[in-house]
Parts: sequence; C-alpha cells; structure tokens
Amino acid sequence: MKLSAHFDLSEFERSATASRYGIDNQVPPSLIPNLRRLCDQVLEPLRAYAGRPIVINSGYRSPLLNFHPKVRGSARSQHMTGEAVDIRVPDSATGNRWFLFLMNHCPFDQLIRERPTRDSDTFWIHVSLKASDNRRQVISNLIKD
Ligand SMILES: [Zn+2]
Repeated sequence: MKLSAHFDLSEFERSATASRYGIDNQVPPSLIPNLRRLCDQVLEPLRAYAGRPIVINSGYRSPLLNFHPKVRGSARSQHMTGEAVDIRVPDSATGNRWFLFLMNHCPFDQLIRERPTRDSDTFWIHVSLKASDNRRQVISNLIKD
C-alpha cells in the first residue's frame, strides 16, 4: 500500500528483528493516518531536499517488537503508534545537513540524532510527529547504549 508518492507501507513494517524472530509487525489500520502524516509532512519534504531515496531503518514497531531485547525500545516509544521513524543517513556530513533541514523546515514532536554507542561516529535520525501538541524537542546527540 502506497502511503505517499515515494513511500510504501512495507518500508515501515520491515524489520530484520521481526523477521528473524517471527514477530508480527503489521501496522494496525487505525495507525495508517499517523504514517501518512509523517510521509506528507516530513519524509516527502526531506526526499525533495535530498534529491534521493530516503531509507527507513525503523518505522512501525509492534509492542512485541519494541520490547524485544534486540530492540529495547522505550515504554512510550512513538514507533509503537506510527508517529516515529528512524532515517538512515548515507554519511555524517549529509546526515547533518538533513538534520538541519528537518529542524528548520518541518513540523516534528521530537528530532533526535541517535548514535548506537558512545564511540560510534555513525548516527541515524529519529523524527516523530503527532497530530497536534508537537513539542519541537531537538536532541542532537543521544547515545542509545
Ligand atoms: Zn527511533
């Protein structure tokens, strides 16, 4: 199912961990509008700016997937409500440009530059968006570990 011109529902449901452990990660229909909002207001504008496909590292997470030891998502993760997406960055310089673009041109609830470990210089961009009451909270260097 297409969510917008360049994004498909399957990109939000795909998860290596879910496949490996046989965890159902289908998005409930009630959450589709949240994903469409992310596509229309965040991902499509970013794609237009980037001029290249945007790769989703992690989109929707069913509660079973979110709380799996390999994922260790937070109890209130917006990935469980279809309100958050993790964006893969091709390299740090490009990732920093994308981060600034999102910060300056898109609505969001939280925008986070996340590193997998303290020593890592790679990162991904977590961005969330709600229907209303968005906090516009920016966290530029969160270490996941
Ligand atoms: Zn995330």
